[in-house]
Amino acid sequence: MRLILLGPPGAGKGTQAKMLKEKFQIPQISTGDILRAVDEDTELGVEVKKIMAAGQLVPDDMVVDAIKERIRQADCATGFILDGFPRNIAQAEKLSETLIDMSLAIDNVIDLELDPEEVVERLTGRSTCSNCGAMFHQVSRPPKVSGVCDGCESKLAQRSDDNIETIQKRLKVYEESTAPLKEFYKKQGNLITVEAKGSVEEIFSHVCKMIER
Ligand code: ADP
Ligand code: ZN
Repeated sequence: MRLILLGPPGAGKGTQAKMLKEKFQIPQISTGDILRAVDEDTELGVEVKKIMAAGQLVPDDMVVDAIKERIRQADCATGFILDGFPRNIAQAEKLSETLIDMSLAIDNVIDLELDPEEVVERLTGRSTCSNCGAMFHQVSRPPKVSGVCDGCESKLAQRSDDNIETIQKRLKVYEESTAPLKEFYKKQGNLITVEAKGSVEEIFSHVCKMIER
């Protein structure tokens, strides 16, 4: 199963990707996570950090090369979930070329739809476990103990780009660069649209129903 998760920041791509990963036993490939892991002590790392803090997209070549290498690894043989990639038409075209080269195809593109107002509310309350990556939200999914992960009891952290100013910029970049991908994949005939509202479990069951239809 090869999947792409589309949708504005905060739609829950990461959360749904983690659940899909468990269900289908395929890796979740998040370009955001890959970029956040770039060593900050290098010139490249400093540059990447600056771009992310500004809510802009890093250069296409960088993420395209990372994805090309990643999907060729052994654990991707039975499938993968792309979370946060592609993010513009150029990246989508590069991905299509790469997949054709590998004689592979994407099964489903899942578009998680969410209003901009909701995006802001979700992102400002979001926190992530610094150890296991589990995600929480002040309102919709509060941890049992404030600031502590339910699963592994490590400290929860807020992403530095989850502040109102950067969120607005990320939304603008989404509308301008990423939203056109809906039309791109609709034309290819494998776009699934899911309202990203309700509980995490409700959204997940909706996603699964659409995949298995
Ligand atoms: P979100 O979808 O919630 O904004 P991500 O973790 O997917 O969060 O991305 C965080 C930041 O990483 C983006 O704002 C952007 O700067 C960078 N980034 C992630 N994926 C890509 C990509 N495919 N192309 C360019 N930049 C990316
Ligand atoms: Zn944890």
